[in-house]
Amino acid sequence: MSKSYPCPECGAQKMALTVENCTLEDGLVVKRLQHLKCKACDSRFFDDDAMHRIQDERTKRAVAHTA
Ligand SMILES: [Zn+2]
Repeated sequence: MSKSYPCPECGAQKMALTVENCTLEDGLVVKRLQHLKCKACDSRFFDDDAMHRIQDERTKRAVAHTA
């Protein structure tokens, strides 16, 4: 899998692997999540690894809520 492909949002080839805290649309915060970020338009994109981490965090939170 190539790491230099154009941003689906703006088409710029400025996608960079970034590690930072991400707040998702539903308010879930995933700390130090590695993901792709477009340096041109600041759009974030999650690859499979990132998606797995998000799932993990979501599961942890669900467990914490029911406990
Ligand atoms: Zn972009």
